Amino acid sequence: MAQHFLLSSKARTLSLKAVMALTDDEARATFAAIRWSDNDGQPYCPKCGCLTLYTYKARKIWKCKGCTHQFSATSGTIFASHKLPIRDYLLAIALFVNGAKGMSALQLSRDLSVQYKTAFVLAHKLREAVAALRNDRKLSGEVEVDGAYFGGYVKPRNHKENRRDLRRTEHQTGKRQVVVVMRERNGKSLPFVFKSEAQSVPTIKEHVEVGTKVFADEASSWDALVTKYEMGRINHSQLSTPE
Ligand SMILES: [Zn+2]
Repeated sequence: MAQHFLLSSKARTLSLKAVMALTDDEARATFAAIRWSDNDGQPYCPKCGCLTLYTYKARKIWKCKGCTHQFSATSGTIFASHKLPIRDYLLAIALFVNGAKGMSALQLSRDLSVQYKTAFVLAHKLREAVAALRNDRKLSGEVEVDGAYFGGYVKPRNHKENRRDLRRTEHQTGKRQVVVVMRERNGKSLPFVFKSEAQSVPTIKEHVEVGTKVFADEASSWDALVTKYEMGRINHSQLSTPE
């Protein structure tokens, strides 16, 4: 079976910045190039596979010479049922395929300025497709593991007075999360979102091969990795002072 187009290297190297700068026509061409990346970006009939097509530039569709099926760049994809500009689909792909697993539908709806319901369906479909990619191959060799916390703090009224209490639960909204990135040196990265670094350990063990040397900072969250991997500790505690 051909690789899903969302898992192609073209989709994986899509950058948000590049997508933002695309005109409508460029966005359509980029989408087509990703969708039909298994045919050097050249469209073919999604119904019968025929390579000979009539093009209707004004209507931005193709018609199959073999079976007369008419299709657009998104026909037959998870994006077909929506009426968003193609650029939005590209943004969704860039956000999802390259982004953190915990990217929420709410965040997607804000980032794309689309209705929550639309974002929810897109997010679900993208998550399914991307999950397949993540299970593709385990990381190996030398892998750096790092977590970055974000969100969830209620800003204290008197910052100075409350500073030492910042980490207490009563000052958190329960929405604090950590993005943990597993980064293969000179290779690929796998970002995931968790409630805490410690919670990421089973996922790390699942995605990093035995025999890998794992580099992490000296936080106790990573101690549990020692049972499975040779560890290198990185000291960057001076950088991790809570804001
Ligand atoms: Zn056809």
